[in-house]
Amino acid sequence: MRTVTAYATPAAKAPFEKTTIERRDLGPKDVLIKIAFAGICHSDIHTARNEWGESHFPLVPGHEIAGTVEEVGGEVSKHAVGDRVGVGCMVDSCRECENCKAGEEQYCLKGNVGTYNAQDYHKDNAWTDGGYSTHIVVDEDFVLRIPEGIALEEAAPLLCAGITLYSPLNHWNAGPGKKVAVVGMGGLGHMGVKIAHAMGAEVTVLSQSLSKEDDGKAFGADHYYATKDDATFEKLAGSFDLIVNTVSAHLPMGKYLSLLKLDGTLVNVGAPSEPLEVPAFALIPMRRSWAGSMIGGIRETQEMLDFCAEHKIGATVEKISGDQIDEAWDRVVDSDVRYRFVIDTATF
Ligand code: NAP
Ligand code: ZN
Repeated sequence: MRTVTAYATPAAKAPFEKTTIERRDLGPKDVLIKIAFAGICHSDIHTARNEWGESHFPLVPGHEIAGTVEEVGGEVSKHAVGDRVGVGCMVDSCRECENCKAGEEQYCLKGNVGTYNAQDYHKDNAWTDGGYSTHIVVDEDFVLRIPEGIALEEAAPLLCAGITLYSPLNHWNAGPGKKVAVVGMGGLGHMGVKIAHAMGAEVTVLSQSLSKEDDGKAFGADHYYATKDDATFEKLAGSFDLIVNTVSAHLPMGKYLSLLKLDGTLVNVGAPSEPLEVPAFALIPMRRSWAGSMIGGIRETQEMLDFCAEHKIGATVEKISGDQIDEAWDRVVDSDVRYRFVIDTATF
């Protein structure tokens, strides 16, 4: 075991405390990563505030991890000491079910092993601790290569926010000739704008207000509308092939579904604790679909990182120190994030 520094929350809604945690000894296929930056995802907040059910405390969140390899186990072949690497939302899966075999480990039928707040069934059911720490030990198959050309702080948020938008945009064929809307321009949403634009789609942002319009256009949006203005919904009715909803709170889905054209799809990646409701007649008249999507598999995550490097895309980040996590969380909840907080572990 190796003792490393981390920031943990001791109970639901309790402030963060600087502490130490144990990381396991390296197995033959394990990689020890020195974490440089960990992104703050809204899922960290939902989890630590028990909004998705009872979580396990003390909790060390963080599933947007970027750093360098410090040590490798004897049988590691994919990564070497000094490599720039990342870890996202999962650190293992059963590897045997049809979904794992298809490279969709996030949909593992036994359940993927989350990077934090999960019991690792390959490792004595130990509770996992995430990236708000200086080091992590991960099986090499769940470690991603970060291409040269993306700074580590801009790469960290790609490991969750980036792949969570890349995967549905890819699956539902965002590209030239397609009209794509991104609802909510926070951490996930701003990555959606950059990636959909790079894929060649015509991109519209649907944000609560116009306060971030200049940023949205700079990220690649062609159009930007305020959802607090009802005229937006009249003007854009029946417009989009694809809408990706990244909002962390409850939204009236019928209103947003009315913006889809014939055969359009609204994909929900936002995960509010309250149920979302869909009126049948928002779907039926235009053969519309309402779908969900969860992060992406390991192969697709590597593809996304390579795509982002090729298109010179990184997250737009604000670096914070370990003692600013509570303050940053409050700002995320207030939609006051521009556009992802990353914790600099050098400050620990
Ligand atoms: P975030 O940075 O807080 O962004 C969410 C955005 O939603 C806000 O910036 C805001 O955008 C909008 N919003 C917030 N409250 C709203 C409200 N009451 N009404 C309307 N719009 C509102 O959060 P995030 O990290 O991007 O995560 C977004 C959601 O995705 C969370 O629920 C998270 O748990 C979930 N998530 C899902 C997956 C997955 O695999 N499916 C992966 C990661 C995260 P504007 O200011 O532009 O309106
Ligand atoms: Zn996340």
